[in-house]
Amino acid sequence: MKKTVSLIVPCFNEQESLPHFYRAVCEVAEGLSDYEFNMLFINDGSKDQTLAIMRSIAESDSRVRYISFSRNFGKEAAMYAGFCNAKGDYVAVMDADMQDPPSLLPEMLKILETGEYDSVATRRVTRDGEPPIRSFFARMFYKLINRISDADIVDGARDFRLMRKEMVDAIVAMCEYNRFSKGIFGWIGYKTYWLPFKNVERIAGETKWNFWGLLKYSIDGIINFSQAPLSIASMSGILLTMISFFAMLFVIVRKILFGDPVAGWASTVCIILFLGGLQLLCMGIIGQYLSKTYMEVKHRPHYIIAETNDQSADLIR
Ligand code: UDP
Ligand code: MG
Repeated sequence: MKKTVSLIVPCFNEQESLPHFYRAVCEVAEGLSDYEFNMLFINDGSKDQTLAIMRSIAESDSRVRYISFSRNFGKEAAMYAGFCNAKGDYVAVMDADMQDPPSLLPEMLKILETGEYDSVATRRVTRDGEPPIRSFFARMFYKLINRISDADIVDGARDFRLMRKEMVDAIVAMCEYNRFSKGIFGWIGYKTYWLPFKNVERIAGETKWNFWGLLKYSIDGIINFSQAPLSIASMSGILLTMISFFAMLFVIVRKILFGDPVAGWASTVCIILFLGGLQLLCMGIIGQYLSKTYMEVKHRPHYIIAETNDQSADLIR
């Protein structure tokens, strides 16, 4: 029997890119007659004609299913909806903007068929076409998160990876509300082959990311997969207590030997400001973890589906 390959495609305002993407996948699928392809489009609350395009593609092609959210829930939620509803033996997430080239699929399938790996992940080895400042911060982020967390995240890793069904089940079992898929993929383990490729610019439309969005995303990633900021906060507390103890000894000894304990107003103010700042920073760190915990314990659904042609999909999950 032919193996099935499900492609999950999160789309947010992708009316220009989606038809290109669909055509490209169809071409690749024609060349891979040993496999049955199907696509699951997720409309993540698009404001343009994305949903209409999905409907019309799904009408003309029975391999296509679509899920449309009641509003924009973010790419992470869209990917989760995809994983929950994907039915193939192999499953891949792909961006609709062609930045995850469908032409890599044959090679990825070949590698999985050797049986040695559970997933084939892609990573960009160049960052051409990306603003240099974004590349710089991205590199810093990967260095930092690999150092302080046990989620093994490769620099340039994309969400585009082809996985066996078992791996997808493990991802679905990680039902946390604050999702950071790059970390989740690393955390669940399994043997992964890293396939390098040259960065491709998006075919049409615009990226949904801006600097602040990416900064927030990276902080989320760190908070989700590392307790290091909390340890740093407590370590700096211990360190400062020790320093203040020695400073106290110094002041007492100086008073006994030379008198004058009062001089040093400026340094006192500096120290108070420094400590105040440090306390606020540490409270902020604790606050970040607390807010994540707050969202987690509320058990809100990850997404709400307003429309779909997939009868088996859970509408709220
Ligand atoms: N996306 C989404 N929901 C969002 C933002 C993005 O489903 O809230 C989709 C988007 O349609 C695209 C993919 O996620 O298919 C990647 O988005 P984008 O190209 O903007 O990110 P970049 O490639 O610049 O990292
Ligand atoms: Mg993109």
